[in-house]
Amino acid sequence: MPVNQPANQFDARRRIVSAGLADHKVDSLIVSFGPNLRYLSGFTGSNGTLLVTQDDAILFTDPRYDIQARQEVCCQVKISRNHLAKDVLAAMARLKLKRVGFEPARMTCEYHEFLKDKLKMGVSLEPVKGWIEEIRSVKSPEELALIRQSVETNSLAFDQAVKRARPGMKEQDLAAEIEYRMRRLGAEKPSFETIVAGGVRSALPHAQPTAARLDGGLVVVDMGAVQDGYCSDMTRMLHIGRPSPKTKATYRAVIEAQLAAIDAVRPGVSSIQVDRAARDVLKSHGLDKAFVHSTGHGLGLEIHEPPRIARHDKVKLAAGMAITIEPGVYLEGFGGIRIEDTVVVTANGCEILTPTSKELRVI
Ligand code: ZN
Ligand code: ZN
Repeated sequence: MPVNQPANQFDARRRIVSAGLADHKVDSLIVSFGPNLRYLSGFTGSNGTLLVTQDDAILFTDPRYDIQARQEVCCQVKISRNHLAKDVLAAMARLKLKRVGFEPARMTCEYHEFLKDKLKMGVSLEPVKGWIEEIRSVKSPEELALIRQSVETNSLAFDQAVKRARPGMKEQDLAAEIEYRMRRLGAEKPSFETIVAGGVRSALPHAQPTAARLDGGLVVVDMGAVQDGYCSDMTRMLHIGRPSPKTKATYRAVIEAQLAAIDAVRPGVSSIQVDRAARDVLKSHGLDKAFVHSTGHGLGLEIHEPPRIARHDKVKLAAGMAITIEPGVYLEGFGGIRIEDTVVVTANGCEILTPTSKELRVI
């Protein structure tokens, strides 16, 4: 069994939650969202609920995960033979819980309705918003090591796949090559659907690879791996044939914006300031209106998780946060350019984890 993190790490995380329940005005918390469940228990199955109380935690899952749960989880495990939610309700009654927290953005309406309809007198379900995600946004050294490994696998897969890139290749063939290389290098899967988009299609920030051939101009490659549960994310640009002066100038502007944003990353700085650093550079090149998305996002057990590095989302950066910095410009009829690295906020600034050169690769 792959043990990536010592079991007591999950205990320690649950202790933080147990100790913080009173501050959130609840006596327990129900967690059924996969990444939060994994973070607090180590459980990787697709169906489970964790009930965390002040001095206890119980994982409920179904018989398919009987063996797996006992291998992965160090708290009490309850295998539900009939109805998982009914067993959760029974435990709530047995433990005399009164104010049970739940994650409103994560629990399904159906699950919530079922519990609510059957609550005993004097027991309530209380929304607790984004708490576990906030805890997750600052990574432990063990988690940072896993993110680093995922980033390295991703970059190596890029290098190997790009060696096979040829003019005339289909977008989807290059995407398939990238994902194949990732898995051969130890990744479980891509962290999102690999983006390979050539020519004018590169102006679509989230293009899906098609049967179109890479026959000239810019190619955006945005790719990430999941390894031991942790995500990586990187965007690099290729160019089929010689780039025009306009392409070169636009490319330089995006790099300048990306480096300015990275330069702004340090503990205590607000995410809005980092976003503005990239936007200001693009504005000086007359390209700010072509930058149509946010500058970056946190990543870890999920590919997109707090903090967002965006115009209106104010979060103070803290040492241990892993975030992407990915400004881009998208010009209809011309193409798009985005450059993305994964960086970690350190005590004095940040460290760029992505080892891949940012040069425009001409093929
Ligand atoms: Zn990306
Ligand atoms: Zn990204």
